[in-house]
Amino acid sequence: MHACRQRGRVSCINFFDLCPSALKMASILQKLITPLFSGPPEPPRNKVTVVGVGQVGMACAVSILLKELADELALVDVVEDKLKGEMMDLQHGSLFLKTPKIVASKDYSVTANSRIVVVTAGVRQQEGESRLNLVQRNVNIFKHIVPQIVRYSPDCTIIVVSNPVDVLTYVTWKLSGLPKHRVIGSGTNLDSARFRFLMADKLGIHASSFNGWILGEHGDTSVPVWSGTNVAGVNLQTLNPEIGTDCDKENWQETHKMVVNSAYEVIRLKGYTNWAIGLSVADLTESLMKNLNRIHPVSTMVKGMYGISEEVYLSLPCVLNGGGVASVINMTLTDEEVAQLQASANTLWDIQKDLRDI
Ligand code: NAD
Repeated sequence: MHACRQRGRVSCINFFDLCPSALKMASILQKLITPLFSGPPEPPRNKVTVVGVGQVGMACAVSILLKELADELALVDVVEDKLKGEMMDLQHGSLFLKTPKIVASKDYSVTANSRIVVVTAGVRQQEGESRLNLVQRNVNIFKHIVPQIVRYSPDCTIIVVSNPVDVLTYVTWKLSGLPKHRVIGSGTNLDSARFRFLMADKLGIHASSFNGWILGEHGDTSVPVWSGTNVAGVNLQTLNPEIGTDCDKENWQETHKMVVNSAYEVIRLKGYTNWAIGLSVADLTESLMKNLNRIHPVSTMVKGMYGISEEVYLSLPCVLNGGGVASVINMTLTDEEVAQLQASANTLWDIQKDLRDI
């Protein structure tokens, strides 16, 4: 059989039955390829959309591409030249990738049928600016973005990355109408990765071999769970009961301070942060795409947990699989850690309660 394209339609003719003159007129495509099926193209099964092609969006996109998680990648932004340039640049790397389709548009129809949508659009912190300061500017941007995402991918899971990430994840949940388990904030996934790197570095081991969790707000009120820090099952608090406190002569709490200051420091040095967040978002995407049931500290709706009574999103250890957040692990926290988590929730609620029109 042989595909003959007429007025944009494909019809099948038998290549081997063509008379010599018709054969002469046939194109290279027609001569080279004998289609066995001429129906519509296969829809994507593992499509990922990244909204916002700034420093963070492109780091997420590249990390997802390199991990070979998507059969189609869609990019969306409002700056058309940059968007097209980023799309073309990635397409030119197709030889080295396993994602056969990379598309981009400011029209959200390009995102249709996404399984996962990563939102990185919005303004970022200026030097010395807190994440919470960004809130109203980014809420206004999200009012435009979120309904469009859901219109074209009603069954997707959304990963919110833009800051302040916990508040914007709550805003996304409200604006999207999606169930809470399908709206996730990247939350303290990055803070925990920084913590594990810094702690492991001090101990001379690999980051994956130091187990520790940062929970709560992604930002200034994040909560280090010192009671759960361990290496190969050896709890560090049993080795040093003062760990993480002001009385600790070894001053391990300095590591958490470094985590909190990490973004400020990197922004001071290079103007933005992008590689670590991109890698961490690809890690979350992998758990969702491959239905892994892995546990990550991500921002989820925590009303009713640890005595938190308001509808706030903040990070707890969440089991991620193909359906989104399958469940939350109930950590055995100390009273002080619970109090810190509640303080984190209060900080976020103080901002959320004043948000209008969401
Ligand atoms: P950036 O300025 O480089 O990129 C932002 C992009 O968003 C730009 O390309 C801009 O054109 C686009 N944009 C703006 N309005 C849009 C809209 N309505 N629709 C689509 N796109 C739109 O910023 P960045 O460095 O990439 O940071 C992006 C966000 O990610 C910031 O809010 C930043 O604070 C946040 N961030 C979060 C984490 C985290 O751990 N959660 C880490 C780093 C950065």
